[in-house]
Amino acid sequence: MLLYGIAASAQTTHFDGQTWWNHIKVLADDKLEGRDTGSRGERAAQAYAVEQLKSAGAEPAGVDGYYQPVKFVSRQIVEKDCSLALVRDGRREPLALGEDAIISTRIMPAPEVDAPLVFAGYGLKVPEKNYDDFAGLDVRGKIIVILAGSPSEIPGALASHYQTAAERWKVLRAVGAIGIVSLMNPASMDIPWSRVSLNRTHPSMDLDYPEFNETEGAKIGVTVNPANAEKFFVGSGHTFEEIAALGKDRKPLPHFPLPIALEAKTRVDVTNVESANLVAKLPGTDPVLKNEYVVLSAHLDHIGIGEPINGDRIYNGAMDDGSGSALVLDMAASFKKSPEKQRRSILLVLVTGEEKGLLGSKYFAAHPTVAPKSIVADVNVDMFLPIVPLKLLTVLGLDDSDLGERVRQIAQAQGVRVQPDPEPLRNLFVRSDQYNFIRHGVPSVIMSVAPEPDTAEVKTFKDWLTQRYHAPSDDVDQPVDLAAAAKYEEIVRALLLNVANGDRRPEWKAESFFRRYAQ
Ligand SMILES: [Zn+2]
Repeated sequence: MLLYGIAASAQTTHFDGQTWWNHIKVLADDKLEGRDTGSRGERAAQAYAVEQLKSAGAEPAGVDGYYQPVKFVSRQIVEKDCSLALVRDGRREPLALGEDAIISTRIMPAPEVDAPLVFAGYGLKVPEKNYDDFAGLDVRGKIIVILAGSPSEIPGALASHYQTAAERWKVLRAVGAIGIVSLMNPASMDIPWSRVSLNRTHPSMDLDYPEFNETEGAKIGVTVNPANAEKFFVGSGHTFEEIAALGKDRKPLPHFPLPIALEAKTRVDVTNVESANLVAKLPGTDPVLKNEYVVLSAHLDHIGIGEPINGDRIYNGAMDDGSGSALVLDMAASFKKSPEKQRRSILLVLVTGEEKGLLGSKYFAAHPTVAPKSIVADVNVDMFLPIVPLKLLTVLGLDDSDLGERVRQIAQAQGVRVQPDPEPLRNLFVRSDQYNFIRHGVPSVIMSVAPEPDTAEVKTFKDWLTQRYHAPSDDVDQPVDLAAAAKYEEIVRALLLNVANGDRRPEWKAESFFRRYAQ
């Protein structure tokens, strides 16, 4: 008898991969123009999803039918009216926008900034580990320069947590810093600088509600091309080469004032945008437990139309996150086709604004359309990458709640091994929608197909990230393993049912950092 009562012979198949892929073909069609938040392409994707949810018998559970409206502000940098320069002994050295650095609009930049720079290592303060990059460093009224990343003494999830904008700015406000220059860490870049820079004038968005302003007091955020980062260190007694070499191995970094100031002039166009999350319900049967919900979430938005790569301007987002959205629709259909005992309700949540900074889920988690305490778990699916056969599953949150053990057993019954995050530097734990559920105390996992270590599969994944991730080639003309997708869906289905039917709701582990949000 297994711990959570999962039959070892759970080899039943509810999925063939094909119906899942058919949804992706619709969602990632050029006609949907990359499903940018608030765009007509996203509205078309939402209309399709609503139609599919309806025909699968999922009940509307939004505010307006299946819809939960969400308001955004959109910020677009007007680069011709912007400039950045390093000022050294009164001399200005202009930085080339795009080539040397880009001005972030995730932070609303002040029109004019002129402040000294201080190198603050990773720019982190982690009380749980007695770690403080700001100890003995005077950053008041200054702009900190950091290397993106974290030291190895900080466990992955904790490091990810403290690198979120909200947590970072709590610390920066407390120490009096007014801006941040982030040097990209060459060891953890998903895509090359040329592609980071390519869409830098694409608008960014934020939720248009005062309660969500996380970067108050911030005047400027700049991201720097690591290939040109050496100019920040001239005359400091250090080099970027030395810093990057330490950062690659997550070693401790030095801290020191830089003999330069940053001068910035910025202009940003601000407009209002409206979109919505979609919420549907598969009601449970238990008279009491049906008022509790297991959330299955994915993001329907992607990044829309951008700068052309190989002549293609439509960033279709087939895997990101057409794949997760399609899974949600496919899952609803599978429960209609093969209904199963289900004591708790399952809530299907297709969020908007993920690519703009997990915004739709941030709104939903703060204002759920069901009673807040009634959400017992979030199983989030984002870009699970069935591009090789499924033998190994990466589970973020594996050791944080008993959802991890449930996944382990379910996967094992399918002949699949599980592993925790093998690449903590990439911050994946805070890079999709599960994070907002976690912040509201809800145990969560996100799983993805992983390459078998030391095989050619590792390169397959690396190439996928370099070439297709957030590029127009993440479209329907790419190799996909339908059997891997079907097996993944089977695991998600078993997990949802396990949580829906379990006597106890999932619980955080006592040693998990994220348990604090459940208090
Ligand atoms: Zn994405």
